[in-house]
Amino acid sequence: MNYLSTRGHPDRKRFCEILLEGLAPDGGLYLPEHYPQVDTATLAKWRDLPYAELAFEILSLYIDDIPPADLKAICAKTYTHEVFGSEEIVPLRELEDGVYLEALSNGPTLAFKDMAMQLLGNLFEYELARRGAELNILGATSGDTGSAAEYAMRGKKGVRVFMTSPDGRMSPFQQAQMFSLQDENIHNIAITGVFDDCQDIVKAVSNDLGFKRKYRIGTVNSINWARLLAQVVYYFAGYFQATAGNDKPVSFTVPSGNFGNVCAGHVARMMGLPIHTLVVATNENDVLDEFFRTGIYRVRAAADTHETSSPSMDISKASNFERFVFDLVGRDAGKLRSLFVDELGSQARFDLSGEPAFKQAAERFGFKSSRSTHADRLATIRDTEKRFATLVDPHTADGLKAAREHLTPGVPMVVLETALPIKFAATLVEALGHEPARPARFEGIEALPKRVVKLPADVEAVKAYIAQNCD
Ligand SMILES: *Cc1c(COP(=O)(O)O)cnc(C)c1O
Repeated sequence: MNYLSTRGHPDRKRFCEILLEGLAPDGGLYLPEHYPQVDTATLAKWRDLPYAELAFEILSLYIDDIPPADLKAICAKTYTHEVFGSEEIVPLRELEDGVYLEALSNGPTLAFKDMAMQLLGNLFEYELARRGAELNILGATSGDTGSAAEYAMRGKKGVRVFMTSPDGRMSPFQQAQMFSLQDENIHNIAITGVFDDCQDIVKAVSNDLGFKRKYRIGTVNSINWARLLAQVVYYFAGYFQATAGNDKPVSFTVPSGNFGNVCAGHVARMMGLPIHTLVVATNENDVLDEFFRTGIYRVRAAADTHETSSPSMDISKASNFERFVFDLVGRDAGKLRSLFVDELGSQARFDLSGEPAFKQAAERFGFKSSRSTHADRLATIRDTEKRFATLVDPHTADGLKAAREHLTPGVPMVVLETALPIKFAATLVEALGHEPARPARFEGIEALPKRVVKLPADVEAVKAYIAQNCD
């Protein structure tokens, strides 16, 4: 399998070449040259596989530069009962007639990002050892991504993590999750500033090509193809659990921010998984909902990006969206470039409303969308507790609300549960008047010793810290 850039760069790459890279050299995103097709017979064969073996089958279609036995061992080591809390790894449960929750949040940091990041940690360790190389991962986080990356990379050979976060702005639980890690290869850097300062620092360091090369700086952000690929697997696993051996379609609703998660659903659907509808659920930051309703993609300024109670969906632009638009415009890289380079570059928006391609988003690719507000979130959390004795986190609540707006009779609707409620306890308390239950392993983490350095919002200070800590 070869990978291309959405912006038309002539180079073709193999999986392990793009594994450790971010954007393609022309600023595009990597995609496979084609989507491998899965027929009914293959689906039947995969239906009863344990999760790790299903992951191996799907990954094998996209990765041909890791020997199969090694890839199989990596999958087996990643998707275990011990790490994800159940044999099913992503158990499905019916909430009400035809509406299901797929649990993706029982990994080490209690958010779905573990599903991909845990695999990435093992792939990185494998590939770096094979090359005899090292990598220093530099990132910025306001919560879920940073902790998922740290728990995936802790103790891994050849990898260090330097994770910046805005000092004092994460929830106490999220801070404790990250700062209590004592592993030598994990460096927490609390920046005196806001999340945008952290992101600017990461960009500035990555743009210093000399520094980047000398200190082998890499990232693990959501545009990484391996992360997206790992997420394709749980659409298949959810589909198998929601159906009973027939080839009936299933719909999915996905709480969305950077469009990584739902883009994996799009890939699964392109492979032939019978997905009826993909519902994109957004919060008040409704860049994506606006596009799927109107055909206009309008990137927001920082000042127009709201801080909401589903903070992991607070985005101004959706970094993986370009992948879907590439398919939407018939994989025409010239057209893609005119939208994402010329139009977004000059006007921060593009408009497909008058073009046949826009109609295809719903008709051919199955996309629908909805938007929720803080009040919707609280109402859904209350209603779900009252009627089903189930607690959902604010992101999953956005998903549930959207799902109910797009039900099709006779088609099961699977809502992806993207975090556990304990991660967002303040909003649960606001909705219900009580704290959600805390898994035993997180009892008292706020009191554990913390490993974190505090630095000013200054690029040179962060560079100096990295230099000191890479021997
Ligand atoms: C990251 C995240 C999302 C958004 O996922 P994308 O892949 O960025 O669309 C939704 N919910 C939670 C809890 C998250 O951590």
